[in-house]
Amino acid sequence: MNPALHAEALALLRRFYGYDSFRPGQAEIISAVASGRDAVALMPTGGGKSLCYQLPALLSDGVCVVVSPLIALMDDQVSALLANGIPAAAVHSNRPEAEVREALEQARLGRVKLLYTSPERFVADLPAWSRSLPIRIVAIDEAHCISQWGHDFRPVYTELASVKASLPAVPVIALTATADRLTRDDMVRLLRLRDPFTWIGSFDRPNISIEVSPDPGKARRVARVRELVRKYPDDSGIVYCLSRAKAEAMTAALQAAGVSVVCYHAGMPAAAREQAQRAFINGDVSVVCATVAFGMGIDKSNIRWVVHNNMPANIESYYQEIGRAGRDGLPAEAVMFHSVGDVITLRGFIDDSDSSRRGINTEKLNRMQAFADAAVCRRRMLLSYFNEEKVRDCGNCDVCRSAPLRFDATVAVQKAVSAVLRTGCGVGAYMLRDILRGAQRHDIRMRGYDRIRTFGAGSDMSAPEWNYYISQMIQLGLLDVAYDDNNRLRPTPYGMRVVRGEERVMLAKYTDRPLAAPAPKRQSAAASRHDTDALLARLKAVRKAEAARIKMPPYLIFSDASLADMALRRPRTLEDFRLVSGAGEVKTARWGKMFLQAIAEFERGALL
Ligand code: ADP
Ligand code: ZN
Repeated sequence: MNPALHAEALALLRRFYGYDSFRPGQAEIISAVASGRDAVALMPTGGGKSLCYQLPALLSDGVCVVVSPLIALMDDQVSALLANGIPAAAVHSNRPEAEVREALEQARLGRVKLLYTSPERFVADLPAWSRSLPIRIVAIDEAHCISQWGHDFRPVYTELASVKASLPAVPVIALTATADRLTRDDMVRLLRLRDPFTWIGSFDRPNISIEVSPDPGKARRVARVRELVRKYPDDSGIVYCLSRAKAEAMTAALQAAGVSVVCYHAGMPAAAREQAQRAFINGDVSVVCATVAFGMGIDKSNIRWVVHNNMPANIESYYQEIGRAGRDGLPAEAVMFHSVGDVITLRGFIDDSDSSRRGINTEKLNRMQAFADAAVCRRRMLLSYFNEEKVRDCGNCDVCRSAPLRFDATVAVQKAVSAVLRTGCGVGAYMLRDILRGAQRHDIRMRGYDRIRTFGAGSDMSAPEWNYYISQMIQLGLLDVAYDDNNRLRPTPYGMRVVRGEERVMLAKYTDRPLAAPAPKRQSAAASRHDTDALLARLKAVRKAEAARIKMPPYLIFSDASLADMALRRPRTLEDFRLVSGAGEVKTARWGKMFLQAIAEFERGALL
């Protein structure tokens, strides 16, 4: 970037956002866009994409139009900008017409720097806006939605091709947190970008610890969530489930266990959904238990953990969902449970989906399964999926922490395959498990399966163990699932060779993983850390009270990262306060005194 521009951009960063330096890629992208070049910004969630068009907007004399697919996301971004003293507005179907007219008038005068809108609205109003508004930049958020290859195709995005025709001289910046090479190429081609500056940021989110485990049963899943809630009492988390019914059942189970939780899924009335989302964002409840319908618009920095109660449909979704945790860069945790049942449900979704997408979706599900069963560093596997090389094990995933033990499972496989044969290939995974365990199930007796020779032959292993092994048998291709025939199992030729004793099989050993993940490392000495933690808790309380008073989500006042920095620095004057990360001009003027006072009181209390 040329030095004068760089200095100006840094001054704006300091003044409006209270940050000292750019994150990787930001300066380069800002420089390209500010000098009129198209750009593609591929950065992980939390990587800092918004600044890549917001700062060029501040450097320009006009307006940046930001196309965003979700209303909640737009409103959140606008609130964040306004809190930093940057004029912004959103134009979408949920805004009263008078407000929209006012926003457009302010934009016409160049007084609104960032104008957020939906793709539908933008495409419809482009002819008028291109004449009446001083548009200097167009930013397309979630740009992967334009590609059929992506996992989140939205047809209206393809109409954004008209932007370049209507505004040939205006740089367009396409942003996304998820795109493989094909999707990337589609973005450039379909948006008609000209020689775009392309930044592909690292997808690595080393602060998120990753844990994947075969389904340990409902009680332990609930216990795991409770444990996370206790470990991070001031923060929040998301529990993702595969279906509305599962989300409701898990919500009830968590409530029964005393967890403060709301349910969220697309089948709820809009008002209830809205209310649940607000309760979560404002910190009134600490957990939301939801389907994938939840989260795209959530820009909450203190989500400390994400639990996948079921396996997601593809790695893109999984990575995006766990990426909602730890956006402030502080340690966060991702926990996923998976079972044969999930795979069967997901196959069912695929069978019901549009025939043109079945092949792609099946392939994506296979990759997801391979990830769940991986015996290599999970982060390496994820990053390699996104074509990013990582030469070292991460040390922050369950595989790195304890490599799975493999054992000769030939006998277990023989028992399972022969049980399948003796039922005449008439059972699914769960009934197979119960037959092997010799469970007293009415339907087993009805069908006479309690009289076959393998009934109870696997009673030495627990139900979760059998779930885990049967799912590996399916994934390794020893058993095949007839998805078109009630998910009945049948042995493959490979399975038959094992049952005849011609081949041996190794499986990953089920371990009853210890419930607690290792505590995140911190450097400071225990005593002063204790003190800093106490101050941090105090600052969070101040933030919470203020948020309630002015009816604003707490993280829009200061993020957790800002409060942590504040607790470490302990500023005494407003001048010191400006050095706190995230304390821009406007926030310092508005809240500096309040937090300085809390720090001073805390220090007096500590002296007594
Ligand atoms: P993305 O849109 O890529 O998911 P955001 O733009 O929302 O990410 O940024 C994530 C968080 O990082 C926000 O809280 C933002 O204020 C913060 N952030 C962005 N750029 C910087 C920076 N240069 N220094 C410190 N924090 C930053
Ligand atoms: Zn690892």
